[in-house]
Amino acid sequence: MLLRRVGEAIGKFKMIRDGDRVAVAVSGGKDSVTLLEALLLLQKRSPARFTVCAFTVEQGKFLRPVAPLGDYMKARGVSWTYFHDAPSFRLLEEQPDHGCDLCSRYRRRAVYEIARGLGANVIAFGHTADDFCEALLRNTLFTGRISALPPVAYSRERDFRLVRPLVYVSEEITTAYAAQKQFPLIPCGCSQRTGAVRRSLRDYLAQLKQEYPHVLENILSAMGKLDTSRLLDTRFLALDGDTVETGEPDLLPILSPAGE
Ligand code: SF4
Repeated sequence: MLLRRVGEAIGKFKMIRDGDRVAVAVSGGKDSVTLLEALLLLQKRSPARFTVCAFTVEQGKFLRPVAPLGDYMKARGVSWTYFHDAPSFRLLEEQPDHGCDLCSRYRRRAVYEIARGLGANVIAFGHTADDFCEALLRNTLFTGRISALPPVAYSRERDFRLVRPLVYVSEEITTAYAAQKQFPLIPCGCSQRTGAVRRSLRDYLAQLKQEYPHVLENILSAMGKLDTSRLLDTRFLALDGDTVETGEPDLLPILSPAGE
């Protein structure tokens, strides 16, 4: 299941190509370590030849020593860079209560610096299907835009391809996989600091998933099948009379809720 979904995303969005050097951003959580494992396994099966390395940015927020993660990387034969980001530590000292915006800006700068040093042209992040769906809801409800996360994007200078191969992988899958493999996970001090909006969206999605097990797949499917003639963006509407009414909107989900 895990490999099939990661393989599907890589193929569909052309995330990894022949000759790529992929640097996996390992945060110490279940998702990024699962992503690393999946890429190592797919590397052996893929017709495309690519190399994989990993890195972790230390921003002073881990609650446990990262040594077990280092031991695991060694045992898996992965080249792993543990990067102590001095500017992030200074930020922590000067503004201990800084928000996520600032923290992630510092992290992004560090990520590019590390990837450059590793000679990587692809950076892989462990955002899951849950993250995509949560971002879609957050943006729709609170920023007035229908957008989620890019499965593939490029850095401003176009020197890195940024990929999110877990787009079709739910957190149930990463949780189960990480537990089964007994990955050494390193909790982050901020993990409880999720804002009120994110917390309520997560709770809402979790509740929906309980009631309708396929809801995540339906949201992901919807993101890939825009019906622009039924939205309000005039860039995509034929305002001069070319629009053809195709009947009642199709309100049925692509995958029916459980038991219906
Ligand atoms: S939750 Fe913590 S580690 Fe994550 S972006 Fe926010 S401040 Fe940084």
